[in-house]
Amino acid sequence: MAIEILTPEVVARIAAGEVVERPAAVVKELVENALDAGAAIISVAALGGGIGLIQVADNGRGIPPGQLDLAFTRHATSKISRETDLESIATLGFRGEALPSIAAVAEVEMVTAPAGAAGSYISLYDGKVTGQGTLARAQGTTITVRNLFRNIPARLKFLRTPATENSHIANVVTQYALAYPEVRFRLDIDDKTVVNSPGSGRLLDAVLAIYGLETAQHMLEIKHDNKWAESPYGSITVNGLVGAPQAARASRDYMSFFVNRRWISGRVLFKAVEDAYHGLLTVGKHPVAVINIELPAREVDVNIHPAKSEVKFQNERGVFGAVQKAVRSALIELAPIPSVSQPTAVYHVPPHPSTPSPLTNIVPLWQPAPSVKDTTEAEKPLPLIQAALPALRPLGQLAGSYILAEGPDGLYIIDQHAAHERIMFEKVQRQRENKAVEVQGLLDPVTFEATPRQDALLKLSAADNGDSLQDTLAQFGFNLEPFGATTYLIRAVPAGLDGKRSLAALRELLETPSSTASWQEKIAQSIACHAAVRAGQVLSLEEMRQLLRELEQTTLPHSCPHGRPTVIHLGLSYLEKEFKRT
Ligand code: ADP
Ligand code: MG
Repeated sequence: MAIEILTPEVVARIAAGEVVERPAAVVKELVENALDAGAAIISVAALGGGIGLIQVADNGRGIPPGQLDLAFTRHATSKISRETDLESIATLGFRGEALPSIAAVAEVEMVTAPAGAAGSYISLYDGKVTGQGTLARAQGTTITVRNLFRNIPARLKFLRTPATENSHIANVVTQYALAYPEVRFRLDIDDKTVVNSPGSGRLLDAVLAIYGLETAQHMLEIKHDNKWAESPYGSITVNGLVGAPQAARASRDYMSFFVNRRWISGRVLFKAVEDAYHGLLTVGKHPVAVINIELPAREVDVNIHPAKSEVKFQNERGVFGAVQKAVRSALIELAPIPSVSQPTAVYHVPPHPSTPSPLTNIVPLWQPAPSVKDTTEAEKPLPLIQAALPALRPLGQLAGSYILAEGPDGLYIIDQHAAHERIMFEKVQRQRENKAVEVQGLLDPVTFEATPRQDALLKLSAADNGDSLQDTLAQFGFNLEPFGATTYLIRAVPAGLDGKRSLAALRELLETPSSTASWQEKIAQSIACHAAVRAGQVLSLEEMRQLLRELEQTTLPHSCPHGRPTVIHLGLSYLEKEFKRT
């Protein structure tokens, strides 16, 4: 075939293929346009998985009459004008491609009105204008997209079920509702409202509307004024909300990243956040996080991806570190104690008419304390955020497993095993860092017969410095002496373990499925778990006192190394309320 220049129609469809890959991409472009137009209310509707209809209505700036066909012309935009503008893009759109691309693969109608001017409409079929005129409308814009991909059967074939396409659409609206808490978002899919955010301007309200109460009440705030790194053009700031460990989910779908308020797929950033949760989550659990990264526009190239869903940072390591530090500090400073004044699964409060709705109990994070005059002491929300444990006085033991203790505000119930695990975990790590590990020699060495796989693991390089797992174990106090092909003699073990327990710890360690935790971390976890007091072990008051004192001194007293809570708190005001003393 001879070389020929493609017709504009073919060029338009090829370009459209990159921008509008699936119905959710249409929604994304239209929502971005509404946000760029400064809308405070954005309503989205979809029918038939977005193929039948997508409609986005906003109350933004609108388009002046006479400019509608321009809006549907390729490379026509009101957002940038000079080449240098590309270096610091402040809007979500900038290529002038979305509207013409959508019009090339669907039937489109737009009705729009700017402030104080008459409304006008335009309709297009296969990219060609079929109608134009005036039409009344309040300020704002409504775009209706019908029969998407009707003229591209190949694209239609690759779409998933309507339910799947719907979930992608819902995800787009969800993400933008989180990125713009000051905008009221509504999404109706097949006439059912699936997203309805209040537009209050508070991120936690948006999280509540989208992820529900259970998650919202476990969110911790990354401080707004935190400056996390410097760059040649200014500072990188990170703010947002992260879920306490107990809010973790089984997938990464609950982590959202916004760069200068643009939703991006945060492949690198997932890792930064998960690193920050190191030691706080059980295997297979992923954090809930809404992370806003603000940095000078010149520091980030948003023009590297057809759907603009990826960006390139000039200083990627800086951003990575900033996110990791910001999240970690939120987790350490703000780790809340699960408290029964909030509805939690750990303690069942039977509902009765005078019980205030759960919402009134969890105000502290996203509302100023209620200013209503007659608010009684009992209704005042407990401080949700507590950095360290208060001084606790043991009262006794429950079921041989829980320590009951009195604190400045009521009763604390401590899981003795989980608490001791936390203590041992930090102690073992500290000792190893200081090369001051307490070791205990065994009078009778214990034989450990490794399976071929376990033996291979032991010889594997397990640390950054190239040490084998066996060497790394030695640094923690496990002395394994080769004794035949795959047999070892355990001659010494970390203090707190005996021969039997160390054998169990070793086996467990060599069987744990691969996780993101480092071997050092896994070894410390394993030692902590096997050295800690068991549930069911009777403790004297003095032993309890000692355990509580050591727990108070840990860095993260509220959760065990696997992320389970160590302490439950029953506040005095809660007790008063339940006993009807108020
Ligand atoms: P881009 O967003 O890259 O500029 P689009 O094709 O998405 O390109 O839109 C073209 C132009 O149409 C925009 O630059 C804007 O001026 C106008 N426009 C599109 N949607 C809206 C809207 N919802 N409200 C106001 N103006 C809009
Ligand atoms: Mg656009």
